[in-house]
Amino acid sequence: MPKPNELSPSVRRTAIVGSGVAGLTAGILLKQAGQEVTVFEKSRGPGGRLAAKRVPGGSADIGAQYFTARNPAFLPFLRQYAGEGCFDVWQARLGFRAESGQWGQFPEESRYVGCPRMTAITRALSGHVTVVSETRVERFERHGNRWLLYDTQNSSLGAFDQIILTAPPAQSQDLLAASGLAQEAESLDDQVKAMLPCWAVVAHFEKAPWTDHDGMRVEDSVLYWVANNSSKPGRQDDGQWWVLHANPQWSQEQVDASPEDVASQVLSAFRELIGYVDEPDTVLAHRWLYARSEDAERPGHLWFPDHRIGLAGDWLSGGRVEGAFNSACSLIDALIDER
Ligand SMILES: Cc1cc2nc3c(=O)[nH]c(=O)nc-3n(C[C@H](O)[C@H](O)[C@H](O)COP(=O)(O)OP(=O)(O)OC[C@H]3O[C@@H](n4cnc5c(N)ncnc54)[C@H](O)[C@@H]3O)c2cc1C
Repeated sequence: MPKPNELSPSVRRTAIVGSGVAGLTAGILLKQAGQEVTVFEKSRGPGGRLAAKRVPGGSADIGAQYFTARNPAFLPFLRQYAGEGCFDVWQARLGFRAESGQWGQFPEESRYVGCPRMTAITRALSGHVTVVSETRVERFERHGNRWLLYDTQNSSLGAFDQIILTAPPAQSQDLLAASGLAQEAESLDDQVKAMLPCWAVVAHFEKAPWTDHDGMRVEDSVLYWVANNSSKPGRQDDGQWWVLHANPQWSQEQVDASPEDVASQVLSAFRELIGYVDEPDTVLAHRWLYARSEDAERPGHLWFPDHRIGLAGDWLSGGRVEGAFNSACSLIDALIDER
């Protein structure tokens, strides 16, 4: 990890777009390297796709379900900046159900979750950097050696020496295009196409609808993943909250369907999968337009040195929570090596 003042002394102020795992990791590492960092986030709170929805009596993780820590630097980083108490191992009984109906095992590996919800991690990380929330960066403009950032009201958000974009590829592409960087925007075409949507449905059951597994990856015409959110550590729910993710192809076909219609179809598929008959008492649906990326080139990060604009995010390094961390580390390492 970078040591203070290892970055060029002429580069002092960095703007980061997005407060997901990639944006917060990049912000913390840059601060550690002696930089002034401001993170802009369009949503109310930090987290991005590490997301939790408030539900009666608690919350349910509607985005990332768990994360791995194969990079030996990831857990020490989380312990140092998020704290031991806000994540834990999910001792889940996980199963894989093939199209044929055959059940298989998940590979043995530690899987971690935020406690009491996924966003506990990003909330804690965000305490180490300045985050300006509910502020969508619309475009940036070059003034001499600096970039001026503007929001959707065309109000200036300040002047910066360099910019790091951590939004999903379609949103990063829009930002580059709106800032007159057409060629750089075009270079993201493949990654934009590789990003697929996901409908997430959250349902509350009084009685456990299924007891054999806590989470299931399924090959199904509608479903992709179903999990008992209440089985994760630190949740204290009455009854059980289940999170059901539709598969990317079905989500794409239903991208403009109403949440009610989607919830009803996803629940029917769930019932068919597990043979459960009772109705849930509360159901919510959320659409992720940019959920996960399919196989695309994974360069780790992108850096446009002439503009001093970098891009980091899961889609540049493995498509998962840990990939977002790895991508931010890869970009900041490159900035340090550049010196
Ligand atoms: C349904 C679903 C299930 C998943 N399951 C798993 C899983 O089980 N395990 C796993 O490891 N990963 C999973 N993932 C993927 C994981 O959530 C992501 O890989 C990771 O959270 C991405 O982090 P990021 O920082 O790269 O991007 P994001 O989390 O997307 O952060 C980008 C941020 O940029 C903000 N933003 C965008 N445009 C602007 C703008 N113009 N101005 C200001 N802010 C802006 C967004 O609001 C967002 O907060 C899942 C994702 C989804 C959606």
